[in-house]
Amino acid sequence: MIDLDAIRSNVGVLAAHAGAAQVMAVVKADAYGHGLVASAHAALAGGATWLGVAQATEALELRAAGITAPVLTWLYKPGEPLDALLVADVDVSVSSGAALLQVLDAVRATGRTARVHVKVDTGLGRSGVQPVELPALLDAAVAAQAEGALEVVGIWSHLAWADAPDHPTVLAQTGVFTDAVALAEQAGAHLEVRHLANAAATLTNPAMAFDLVRPGLAVYGLSPVPQLGGPERFGLVPAMRLEADLVLTKVVPAGHGVSYGHEYVTPAETVLGVVPLGYADGVPRHASGLGGRPGAPVQVGGRRLAVAGRVCMDQFVVDLGPGAAEAAGDVVVLFGTGADGEPTAEDWAAACGTISYEIVTRLGVRVPREYRGAPELLAAAGVGGGERG
Ligand SMILES: *Cc1c(COP(=O)(O)O)cnc(C)c1O
Repeated sequence: MIDLDAIRSNVGVLAAHAGAAQVMAVVKADAYGHGLVASAHAALAGGATWLGVAQATEALELRAAGITAPVLTWLYKPGEPLDALLVADVDVSVSSGAALLQVLDAVRATGRTARVHVKVDTGLGRSGVQPVELPALLDAAVAAQAEGALEVVGIWSHLAWADAPDHPTVLAQTGVFTDAVALAEQAGAHLEVRHLANAAATLTNPAMAFDLVRPGLAVYGLSPVPQLGGPERFGLVPAMRLEADLVLTKVVPAGHGVSYGHEYVTPAETVLGVVPLGYADGVPRHASGLGGRPGAPVQVGGRRLAVAGRVCMDQFVVDLGPGAAEAAGDVVVLFGTGADGEPTAEDWAAACGTISYEIVTRLGVRVPREYRGAPELLAAAGVGGGERG
C-alpha cells in the first residue's frame, strides 16, 4: 500500500527545509519502488516544482503521463540517442566532452535547443567532470550556447558523505562546487539552477540548498540519516506499507526443520505460517533467520515475530507460536510507518545489513502497488476516485 498523502506531505516538509530553493523530487527507480507516475503527481501536489530521474525511459514515462514540470535526467549510455528527450523538453546532464557531443547530435537531429546541466565531480568520485577539465567543457558548452544549440541552465554535483553532515568532505565539496558555479557564470552560462543537496543535505544542512534541492528517500518518508533520527524526527511519514496474507497455517511438532537447509528448527509444537513473498519479490535473502538468529521482523495479529529459516524465491515462513489462532488469509505486515507497532523499512534494513533505500527500491513487479490518499491524487495517478483524469 502506497500512501500518496504521505508523499505530498513529506515534500511539504522538504520544501520548508529548502527555504527559498525549489524542490526537485527524485523519482528514479520507479519512485524508489513506490510507482513513478502516482508518486510524481503527489510530489508535485506537495510543492515540488522539478522531477529528477536517472534514465531516459523514466523521463519519457513522466511526459507520456502528461506531466509538464521540468524534468532532469542524468544517466545515459554512449551512443544512446537523446532525440526523444529533447523533443519531450527534458533537461539532460552532461559530465564529459563526449556527452556534450551526444547532446549536440540530438540537437542537430531534432532542431531543438537542449537544456543542459553540467555535472561536476566535486569529490564523490562517480559521475561528473573532474574540476580540472571543467574549463574546457564549459568553453565547448558555452560556444554551443552562443550558436543557439543549447542553454547551460544548471551546474550541479552530488555529495559523498551527506549522511554524515559533519564529515569534512561535505564542506570541501561545497567549496569546489561554489568555485565551479563561479567559473560557469564567468564563462557565460545562462544558469537557472545550482544544485548539490540530496535528502540528507536538505534535512541537515540548509546552507547547501542553493537554488534547488534534490531529495529522494525522504520524499517517501524514510530517514536518510537514521543515526540522527527516524522519519518522525523530521516530520516525515513512511509512504510504503508492505503486507501479505498468510497462504497457509499448520501445526507442526517440536524439532521440525523449517525451509531449505532447516536453519530453523521448531523448539516446541507450534503453528507455522507461510507468507507468499520471497526474494523474487524483493524480500532480501539476508532477511532469513539463520543458525538460531531470528530473521527480519514481521507483525502478525499485533505480535512482533520474525522470519523463520531461509527466505525462498516465492515465500518465507513465520513461527506463529504454540496455539496461535491465525489462519490462511490473515495479514502479515512486513513493514509500515511503525505507528501501530509494526516494523519499519529501517528495521528491515538493519536486520538485513543494508539501507532502507534498498529495501523499498528492490520490491519486485509481482508485488501490486495499491494506492490510498486524497481523491485528486488517486485520480491524477489514474488509480480511481476523484474527478480529474
Ligand atoms: C538518487 C539521487 C538523489 C537523491 O538521493 P537521496 O539520498 O535519495 O535524497 C539526488 N541526486 C542524485 C544525483 C541521485 O543519484
